[in-house]
Amino acid sequence: MSEIQLKNIVKKYGDGFPAVNDVSLDIRDGEFVILVGPSGCGKSTLLRMVVGLEDITSGDMMIGGKRVNDKAPRERNLAMVFQNYALYPHLTVFENIAFPLRLAKGQHSEQEITDKVNRAADMLELHEHLQRKPANLSGGQRQRVAMGRAIVRQADAFLFDEPLSNLDAKLRGQMRTEISRMQRRLGVTTIYVTHDQTEAMTLGDRVAVLKKGVLQQVASPRELYEQPVNLFVAGFIGSPPMNFLPARVDGDTLKLPFFDLPTPESLRGKLSGKDLVIVGIRPDHFEDASMVDESRQARGVVVSAPVDQTEWLGSEQYAYVLFDPDPDVQAKLDELDRDLDGEGMRSQVVVALDPMSRVRAGESTDLWVDPRRVHVFDPESGDSLT
Ligand code: ATP
Repeated sequence: MSEIQLKNIVKKYGDGFPAVNDVSLDIRDGEFVILVGPSGCGKSTLLRMVVGLEDITSGDMMIGGKRVNDKAPRERNLAMVFQNYALYPHLTVFENIAFPLRLAKGQHSEQEITDKVNRAADMLELHEHLQRKPANLSGGQRQRVAMGRAIVRQADAFLFDEPLSNLDAKLRGQMRTEISRMQRRLGVTTIYVTHDQTEAMTLGDRVAVLKKGVLQQVASPRELYEQPVNLFVAGFIGSPPMNFLPARVDGDTLKLPFFDLPTPESLRGKLSGKDLVIVGIRPDHFEDASMVDESRQARGVVVSAPVDQTEWLGSEQYAYVLFDPDPDVQAKLDELDRDLDGEGMRSQVVVALDPMSRVRAGESTDLWVDPRRVHVFDPESGDSLT
């Protein structure tokens, strides 16, 4: 069994602010978990504590039910794949993959080593490159060699630290699918660190979102997208990001900068006493009203939006709507923006429209919004109220 449990893990470098602050996370045997968050949120530190490259200030690290806080990295039987692959330039691909087996002196016969390396090379489609040196491989092939090394060791878990960040966009896409396919085939517990939300959304069974060392939400990609617990997660997951709009609460109406929305039914009555809330609407939750049939239109709200700019990308189209927030709420928004590390508040709404839609810059367009899909957040805590 190779489940990995983090219990109230804290890491302080010196006497500063904790880089990891009271993180608890249970990773099931065979599960693929992504750690994601902006630069400096503590994800690498967390991974390094799992593998044993960093001391734990407090809390318990459990692997297969055993506490490993005081165990050296080599006693944990975990395989780490780094960003720079850590390959030996003077060794062939074969010898690079065989390296961990040779390191365990005398434990494997020459025949065993050949068999294991060949099996890994088959899986990774590296057979024709086995006699090459790393310098003669592409970035993606080097990446596969690094994974081959992890595979032959039969490690209890794979740990990846931003393994694709050195690759170009096309190769990154290919490697993403390869890693995902391989992980499913091998069924090995995997922790994968990234700041790239596409990787986070496409690779993992579950995604753990970190902000300033604190775990914000651990959930499936779909749940993070549909039910983010707070402004930070809502703004971090999804591209282009969720639009955040200040709204004044007026009975059962939310008064936004250029339109009004009925308060979502689930929140009726719950907003009494609140003057200001933040409404979150994903770019793809706006639609061109002229392309929405009447019965659907009646279930939502049609909004006249002054379109400032458009971007047509073939398979998608974006429209940018500028607005002037109420000056009274501007200070509050600036404060929130700082808290979101600049991810959130802008006096602009991004709308993702069907590429067939004939929106024009400089003209007003009727957009349709389904109020049941909007998110409402508490402006003080940033927590979701929906
Ligand atoms: P990135 O995506 O930029 O690699 P990260 O989320 O992996 O960032 P960490 O590298 O874990 O973040 O760093 C978390 C915090 O701990 C940061 O504020 C960083 O400056 C600090 N930190 C990391 N390593 C050390 C160290 N050896 N000594 C002191 N502070 C450190």
